[in-house]
Amino acid sequence: MNSSQAKPAGKPSEIVVFMVRRETECAGCGRELFDGNLLRMEANRPLCLDCADLGHLEFLTSGNTALTRRAAKYSPLWAVVVRWARARKRYERQGILVTREAIDCAETECLADEESRARRRERAAARREGEDREYEAAVAEKLKEMFPSCPAESAGRIAAWTCRKHSGRVGRSAAAKDFDPEALRLAVIAHVRHEHTRYDELLMQHGDRQQARSEVRSGIDRVLSQWENPAGPA
Ligand SMILES: [Zn+2]
Repeated sequence: MNSSQAKPAGKPSEIVVFMVRRETECAGCGRELFDGNLLRMEANRPLCLDCADLGHLEFLTSGNTALTRRAAKYSPLWAVVVRWARARKRYERQGILVTREAIDCAETECLADEESRARRRERAAARREGEDREYEAAVAEKLKEMFPSCPAESAGRIAAWTCRKHSGRVGRSAAAKDFDPEALRLAVIAHVRHEHTRYDELLMQHGDRQQARSEVRSGIDRVLSQWENPAGPA
């Protein structure tokens, strides 16, 4: 990585994510990161997107300026993706990471543009291909056991997220790990953090995960205990 030696292309307030050129591993979870994977440098340590709390975001490649600008506007948390261009000896923007909802909103605004309409169809097809319905249903079932009062919409989104992560992996051990209650619990916590607290907004403001996490911790605990209670919220 050249990230510690050269200044990336982002503005000071932006969260910058690097596209891996040379194989490395996540300092948080030890996952191997290959050419083309994304990582964030935190205190000179590479973190995979999951460990950097950016794993719920989607990559929107550069090329459509209006779409990029609108998606960043609608996303409570977003990051710039850069890659080291060896020949030019500088970081170049590849795109941004934003929420799926932000991309959808931005695309809706760009719908007058025929090119965007084509992009949306392509993305929708790619999404459907990547989804494994059976797997998703099994995860949802397990979630229902663990969090009986979790709203169906949240359970569906957590299952879909877990499934999307699973589809990018290989082998039975990865699948077994997703069904591990502790791993599922972590997925639920991540969902609650991003969707039911101000976490994304706080992280965007200070860029400091520890501070943002400590500010939302009690809120997460409150939601989890409601969801764990079979009788539902009091
Ligand atoms: Zn990691």
